[in-house]
Amino acid sequence: MKLPEIVLFLSSFLVPVITSAQTKNKLHFKSIVADTHNDVISSVTLNGLNIEDDLSGKTHTDIARFKKGGVDIQVFSIFCDERFGKGTAFNYALREMDSLDAIVKRNPSSMMLVNNPADLKKAIKHKKIACLKGVEGGHMIEDNLQFLDSLFNRGSRYMTLTWNNSTSWASSAKDEKANTVPNPTKGLNDFGKQVVKRMNELGMMVDISHVGEQTFWDAISTSTRPVIASHSCVYSICPVPRNLNDEQIKAVGKNGGVICINFYSGFLDSTYLGKQKIFLAKHQLETDSLKNAGKAAYEVEEWMYKKYPAEIQSMRPPLSLLIDHIDHIVKLIGADHVGLGSDFDGIESSPIGLDGVQDFPNITTALLERGYSKKDVKKILGGNFVRVFKANM
Ligand SMILES: [Zn+2]
Repeated sequence: MKLPEIVLFLSSFLVPVITSAQTKNKLHFKSIVADTHNDVISSVTLNGLNIEDDLSGKTHTDIARFKKGGVDIQVFSIFCDERFGKGTAFNYALREMDSLDAIVKRNPSSMMLVNNPADLKKAIKHKKIACLKGVEGGHMIEDNLQFLDSLFNRGSRYMTLTWNNSTSWASSAKDEKANTVPNPTKGLNDFGKQVVKRMNELGMMVDISHVGEQTFWDAISTSTRPVIASHSCVYSICPVPRNLNDEQIKAVGKNGGVICINFYSGFLDSTYLGKQKIFLAKHQLETDSLKNAGKAAYEVEEWMYKKYPAEIQSMRPPLSLLIDHIDHIVKLIGADHVGLGSDFDGIESSPIGLDGVQDFPNITTALLERGYSKKDVKKILGGNFVRVFKANM
């Protein structure tokens, strides 16, 4: 073929490709995109960063990349770990909330605090990122229902009943699995059930990510409102203790709740944690010294991942695996009960093609390529979360 013919020949392929990519992008930016879990508040406050700056290469998240990714609703995680307890955990949560409030106040043209469906509507209408708070770990109420009310009044719209650590009233997935539950029995005790009931009364979503299986069953039978798993994946694809098994997934379907898929490679890919173990063992001298310096295990991992990016790159799973998790839930209970809960800035590894909040459109593309209808894609991107949020208020 001569050159003009070659150009003509190639462009006949190119035109449909461009058109279909544009359609996918159009759908993404026309949809309400909700991410139910992002840890950037902890990482920017601890590291002295501003999310109004370009933080590419430093974090998964900044305001410009939120816009690029078409994110309309972000639930920011309010978090402290098990080293905070009575007398410190509640105050730490308030300080994190202060940080988020200050960030939103500094950026009134792009962010808006949202406490109810009316606020949400307003934020979306004005094309601002709807910012919600979610307390990640029941230890932050310090066994006190008044603290629960205070966290709600300060804007928390879900509370993860436990983080990896159990409370005196709820056992975590980690403790149930390792048989290290500190309480007489697994699950929710009477006070734990009161916590769930009070959350229902207030309009705070009951988040079952991180909780033990018995706590899950107790919570779902106590809650009169749809529950949320703000950042969890499918156990039958990747059997880690805090992923949800098929019976749990079916129960969330019956409850009318939503399971928002976590982007962490270790919860998506059953081979990942083995690879991670080999990586950490290779650098044991360094990891030991970090542990001896008082760093928590997850902080050591974060540190090591930032230091050896080339090594971790080869460990990342494909984006199609994340779609497999969504697919599994949809096949079990339909498209009304799945969403996205990235865990960005709380994870050191995510699938290839998901480098940060700017990459949400790649999920829309992958769902459409998997054969999902536009209607179902919209539900998964944010519609299901909005339904559950409204049903709790
Ligand atoms: Zn978490």
